[in-house]
Amino acid sequence: MRISVASGKGGTGKTTIAVNLALSIDNAMLIDCDVEGPNSHIFFKEQMVKLKDVSIPAPEFDLDKCTLCGKCADFCQYNAIAIVGEKLLFFEELCHGCGGCKIICPEDAIAEVDHHIGIIEKGGTESITLYHGLLNIGEPFGVPIIRELKGFADESKITIFDSPPGTACPAVEAMRDSDFCILVTEPTPFGLHDLTLTVDVMREIGTPFGVVVNRDGIGDDRVDVYCRNENIQLLAKIPNDLDIARLYSKGVPIVEGLPEYKALFAEMFDKVREVA
Ligand code: SF4
Ligand code: SF4
Repeated sequence: MRISVASGKGGTGKTTIAVNLALSIDNAMLIDCDVEGPNSHIFFKEQMVKLKDVSIPAPEFDLDKCTLCGKCADFCQYNAIAIVGEKLLFFEELCHGCGGCKIICPEDAIAEVDHHIGIIEKGGTESITLYHGLLNIGEPFGVPIIRELKGFADESKITIFDSPPGTACPAVEAMRDSDFCILVTEPTPFGLHDLTLTVDVMREIGTPFGVVVNRDGIGDDRVDVYCRNENIQLLAKIPNDLDIARLYSKGVPIVEGLPEYKALFAEMFDKVREVA
């Protein structure tokens, strides 16, 4: 079973929910897909170890063969190629490695070379394996790393994906193919606003989902009302507990420092399993 944990914005406690859920159920593994800033590993004492490099194919131009016809520049959806006067310009940082320019070139003037965009590391404990990806600084496009990370999901286990925040391509890639998506939000107007955007995406991609309210007690009941009106299941509420904040600041999972919360996460999983 694949469960992704997502949120419309960063800082809502998405990673906290993903890690503590994984620690509260049997036979779980964790994949942190937030390749621009993974932080699930902070809650594990074990060191992450590099597993592999991730590259995308990038074009290399043979300027002796190139006739400056401009077909590659016209084709590239990402404006990574431009013909300016008598010059072909390539903006590597805009290239998504789709390979289309090589196919379209009538002069066979484009070869493909590997462009290194990041790495995948493995860690975790004896009972929970953790994978995460690290996108190189300055690289704009983490989706290829997320795709590779998803390949490490063990179908005999319950895989928890910690998705990147937001509703852009990396988040959608992480949530796609999940059996269920847990949307984490806060009971504030900002939380509600971002939740509505994520709900729109979930309905678009058709994955079953439910909502977890984190830091319950800091705002108002508008998230409750919204969920009720939209017929969205509220899976759990994590209280705005100072002890939880203290544990977080020390990198200690809630269910380790406050084991009484294990039942809350186990119950959350039971609700997910009923639907997924
Ligand atoms: S590989 Fe794709 S994204 Fe990169 S330059 Fe060629 S057409 Fe553009
Ligand atoms: S399509 Fe080929 S020949 Fe035309 S501008 Fe691009 S690299 Fe040059």
